[in-house]
Amino acid sequence: MPFVTHLECANCGQEYPAGEVHGLCTACSRPLWVRYDLDLIKREFPKKTLFGRPPTLWRYLELLPVEDPANIISLTETITPILQAKRLGAEFGLESLLIKDESRLPTGSFKARGMAMAVTMANEFGLKRLAAPTAGNAGGALAAYAARAGMEAWVLMPEDTPVINQKECFLHGAKVFAVNGLIDDCGKLVREGMKKIDWFDVSTLKEPYRIEGKKTMGLELAEQFEWELPDWILYPTGGGTGLIGMWKAFGELEELGWMKSGQRPKMVSCQSDGC
Ligand SMILES: [Zn+2]
Repeated sequence: MPFVTHLECANCGQEYPAGEVHGLCTACSRPLWVRYDLDLIKREFPKKTLFGRPPTLWRYLELLPVEDPANIISLTETITPILQAKRLGAEFGLESLLIKDESRLPTGSFKARGMAMAVTMANEFGLKRLAAPTAGNAGGALAAYAARAGMEAWVLMPEDTPVINQKECFLHGAKVFAVNGLIDDCGKLVREGMKKIDWFDVSTLKEPYRIEGKKTMGLELAEQFEWELPDWILYPTGGGTGLIGMWKAFGELEELGWMKSGQRPKMVSCQSDGC
């Protein structure tokens, strides 16, 4: 964290000190963003420093919120490969269609990025009990990283969540609850439990660090494309943290001068029916 200056509300701009546990903005209940001293990073973290670092998301440590690397909770979040999808691309008449295969991450999805960071920061702050509502693979990621950290994970899922997702959480040692309701009802229970059961809410966009984890997707993409991104990025959106995280990454890389400004890709938010 030597490079973190403060946290800032993405909506109203209210500032908060780093090094303390935060949820949402206390003024307007919107998410907080971690802000960095990018001028200092520019001076002390030249791009060439990346050369030779392990191929995991922690290679961008200077642009991540963790203060003491000893607090990192990791299951080895590897740099995920980019695959040419030639036949699928040809079907759509595209010159080039690439897929970033996030299934290579621990627990099989990009949720690992956010949860690795959220659980790392929870560890840094000495939190011991985490909770989240989920209807899918975020629960598995939370359960796995909490187990890695020796923390309790409480996962609240709508009762129609696929059994495999429920079992994944359970087998990782989480306390799993099937809720007779929708994901919003699970979220409400998690908020209510904050006081009653004293857990920390790591719901999407309810704490500041999952977004910093997802940001590494943008940092990685930029590095993999040698700092010149593709024209379009299509992203399966879910809660939206990944889209916001990538955009934040591109902004920071522009300020560092690692990416040219004015050349950001067009971002397409894709969502499945019924999500
Ligand atoms: Zn605010």
